[in-house]
Amino acid sequence: MPTRAEVLRELGLAPEWRLRRSATASASVGAPSANDRPAGDARPESSRLARIAALDWERFAADVDACTACGLCRTRHRSVPGVGDIHAQWMLIGEAPGAEEDARGEPFVGQAGRLLDNMLASLGMNRRENVYIANVLKCRPPGNRTPEPLEVEACRPYLERQVALIRPRLILALGKSAASLLLGTDASIASLRGRVHRFRDVPLVVTYHPAYLLRSLQDKAKAWEDLLLARRTLATVSSGALPGVDG
Ligand code: SF4
Repeated sequence: MPTRAEVLRELGLAPEWRLRRSATASASVGAPSANDRPAGDARPESSRLARIAALDWERFAADVDACTACGLCRTRHRSVPGVGDIHAQWMLIGEAPGAEEDARGEPFVGQAGRLLDNMLASLGMNRRENVYIANVLKCRPPGNRTPEPLEVEACRPYLERQVALIRPRLILALGKSAASLLLGTDASIASLRGRVHRFRDVPLVVTYHPAYLLRSLQDKAKAWEDLLLARRTLATVSSGALPGVDG
């Protein structure tokens, strides 16, 4: 009786694909990811990390667009790298693209995006000047489901590179998912709001996701307070007197 490996070899399908971590298999359905390369594959994960860490803006979007590091590459229509001023002081980070973003390749372009634009306008800003908008994930999870941990890990190097390239003075985390992913906590958004945290040494303020605000008008006033905290924090950072931070 031939072994499975022998059959695969006979069919020309060797080397055999093996998951290194079975508990995370659900995130890697589809295209091969960093964690389910063929056994014996000589490409180390570190070469991918090194490549992404060295990306410049000219190559960034194309690299994201060609990415197959998690299964979302199979279901996306377009990747959504980010939009805005690459020299911005403000960086806004959401969770993942939705249906409209997936179709257009730009983050926050639906109803929630229009609300976000209104919020920025109330501060005298717009998404093309002094603001850069990105998501933790660059490809849409099917049905807008919650991102899997492996997908977040696979995509994290791109966000890290964006932060390194932009060097924002302030990060605004939009919604609990983005805040949780950036701060590595499962704390409620209510407990994370109203304080200044840090991500990679950059002051970070947490506020509600615009899609949530569309459903919960009563929290719009709190979101306005968060924006004012963000603006005050940026002013304090710019003056050189950084406030006490958490996280
Ligand atoms: Fe690559 Fe990120 Fe898209 Fe996954 S979500 S395929 S890691 S760009």
